[in-house]
Amino acid sequence: MWEIIVDKDKCTGDEECVNACPAQVFEMRDGKAEPVDSEECLGCETCVEICPEDAITVTEI
Ligand code: SF4
Repeated sequence: MWEIIVDKDKCTGDEECVNACPAQVFEMRDGKAEPVDSEECLGCETCVEICPEDAITVTEI
């Protein structure tokens, strides 16, 4: 299992993670990325690497 945290203060809503995640973990909610399907996460950290704001952390739990 992986815990995905999006720092809402850093997120600019550019949807990079929404489009890049191979497991469709993210949805846009109120203009920010929200990890709505964390149980589908593969732990690939593509979202962490692609986010220009460094707003996402992925931690194994
Ligand atoms: S680590 Fe990979 S599978 Fe998990 S949310 Fe990020 S991009 Fe999606």
